[in-house]
Amino acid sequence: MNRRNFLKKSVLYGSAAVFAPSLLSSCAEKNSRHPDIRHNSHKGKMSLSYFSYDLQLRHTFTVSGYSRNTTPDVQVRIDYEGYTGHGEASLPPYLGYTVEGTMSFLERVDLSQFASPFLLEDILSYVDGLADGETPAKAAIDIALHDLIGQLTAQPLYALLGLNPEKVLDTCYTIGIDTPEVVRAKTLECAGLFNVLKVKVGYDGDEEMVRTIREVTDLPLVVDANQGWHDRSEALEKICWLSEQGVRMIEQPMPKESLDDIAWLTQHSPLPVFADESVQRLSDIRSLRGAYTGINIKLMKSTGIREALKMINYARAEGMQVMLGCMTETSCAVTAAASLSPLVDFADLDGNLLISNDLYEGVGLCDGRLCLPNRPGLGLIGLS
Ligand code: MG
Repeated sequence: MNRRNFLKKSVLYGSAAVFAPSLLSSCAEKNSRHPDIRHNSHKGKMSLSYFSYDLQLRHTFTVSGYSRNTTPDVQVRIDYEGYTGHGEASLPPYLGYTVEGTMSFLERVDLSQFASPFLLEDILSYVDGLADGETPAKAAIDIALHDLIGQLTAQPLYALLGLNPEKVLDTCYTIGIDTPEVVRAKTLECAGLFNVLKVKVGYDGDEEMVRTIREVTDLPLVVDANQGWHDRSEALEKICWLSEQGVRMIEQPMPKESLDDIAWLTQHSPLPVFADESVQRLSDIRSLRGAYTGINIKLMKSTGIREALKMINYARAEGMQVMLGCMTETSCAVTAAASLSPLVDFADLDGNLLISNDLYEGVGLCDGRLCLPNRPGLGLIGLS
């Protein structure tokens, strides 16, 4: 038995509950039995409702700068002619949006002026114009409308987008910053289930973190510094060392304000350098040309699927690589992002696996690869 198969069996037999649906189901029931559903007051053919839902993280999540155990989240429904489209706004604190702000934005959305969910361009332009920011709330509406249209046409989202489900990617799985013991345990827990791991760095213990993971697995790694490095020469030294450790790319090595230093780093780096905190929406990409090799698109930043598609096309036209990322999210938003993965170079779509109270079965994992449901829309099945 090779090392990888051994790890795989260790994970499956040693901690089978990690991804067990029964566990997900019981947690989801506990959290969603009596959700405080709010109904948007504008009455029309489409009706909008939503409720807050705290995502419980499996492990304390630490990246360069902060730690947390939960992620605030708002689940969104749009009903139309007997069908329900599901969407979601994940609100990790660093994004700067709140449950209250998201709900108050959703209350302002008046869908009664639109005859059908197929008027995506009109609806989403109107929603975008209601306020600056509020990108997760806008993404929730975008995702719910795409789910709804898929159900109305009896087509999975990937088919609506004209994409081949066989071309989905491996997803990486994130190991947060922690003590060597915890990092070792987390790596053991997941190494047999994934083909690439993502490592959070950007602090003094970077090398120890990577060496600890390398004691357990030789899987390819991607690395995210979350703006944690501040000296470009030191950052380059670290990247050169990381490239010798089987790292394939580096995400947001330095603060987004240090664009000139990042451009210098990208020019000298042996690894592709991706923007994450530096890029939110389509309009941000233009200023990053030449400074980064690629961009990380997340639906909660991009206002959803429709603008994410525009961002992918624009980045490609500029010769940039693209990765798809996510926040901690239920399988609703992660499945939406996974449906776009045939178009990109890297997928970092593990947000649903990082929580213990998912509400849905959606995108799956087959030998480390994303596996899209062959059901209409997002193809979600409720777990509660
Ligand atoms: Mg990142």
